[in-house]
Amino acid sequence: MTEMAPADVFGGDWHFEIEREGFAQGVRVLERIFRVTTPFQTLEIFDTKTFGRALVLDDALQTTERDEFTYHEMIVHVSMMTHPTPRRVLIIGGGDGGTLRRVLEYASAEPVQVEIDRAVIDACKRYIPSISAGSFDNPRAQVVIGDGVEHMHANAGGFDVVIVDSTDPVGPAVQLFATPFYQSVARSLADDGIVVAQSSSPLIMAEAMRQQVTNMREVFPIVHTYLGLVPAYPGGLWSYTIGSKRYEPLGVSPETIAERLARDRIQTRYYTPEVHRGAFPLPPFVADILA
Ligand code: SAM
Repeated sequence: MTEMAPADVFGGDWHFEIEREGFAQGVRVLERIFRVTTPFQTLEIFDTKTFGRALVLDDALQTTERDEFTYHEMIVHVSMMTHPTPRRVLIIGGGDGGTLRRVLEYASAEPVQVEIDRAVIDACKRYIPSISAGSFDNPRAQVVIGDGVEHMHANAGGFDVVIVDSTDPVGPAVQLFATPFYQSVARSLADDGIVVAQSSSPLIMAEAMRQQVTNMREVFPIVHTYLGLVPAYPGGLWSYTIGSKRYEPLGVSPETIAERLARDRIQTRYYTPEVHRGAFPLPPFVADILA
């Protein structure tokens, strides 16, 4: 049998993300809108048939118009609700603006965002504006272009919540998963501060996830991994890990979460008080990775 290219089988233009262990996930590309090689990565914007516009960095799909809410609501609301009064919030990465947008939904939040690659912000504002929805122009938001690792080492603390919305541990993001980075995050947090980081796919990137959670356990007294679905990410099942100095993520009641959502008039399509609770029980195969 002759080997066939994906386009021969499916027809048309496709973007395939080839993962380790012989697995690839593809999206049908309707139009390649923009491509640039920045000092940090290759940046592409595609129009896709199923997910609308998509941001792709170094061939890895980062976010799409149609499913971004699943990821951004889960990386933001679980940690922001775990902290009773999140005001000073630091976002590392997150150049598409979906995380900043959700943080700004909290009336009391004063977010600072440190993104290494200005080109990601510019391209997303221009070609996928629905994700940031004007957040980069919100006067409450302070955006710094720089390396999150250096910023953490050089800047004083007092943050209530730090959200690490980074690319996977390759290229400029490698250090964002290492123990020294989490140590500097801990120093930058207030005594009751919380960090949350995307911790990749338990199905496809189990070893990277295990290492990251091990590193966080070295630094934070309370560490919990929780799960969500992000359909456009490889394997669909995604993990996030919270490191906390004082608050337990399951210590906040569903009633309190509901009150706070109502108080700030936060509309969600994925996150609810029940989803918050339901994200923490881990299937045995995930618990085994982290045991
Ligand atoms: N939700 C996405 C995911 O899990 O695939 C992450 C999206 S967001 C676009 C990731 C951002 O992290 C990118 O814009 C990238 O430029 C930024 N980034 C990577 N390394 C960084 C670093 N050392 N400091 C600050 N930002 C960084």
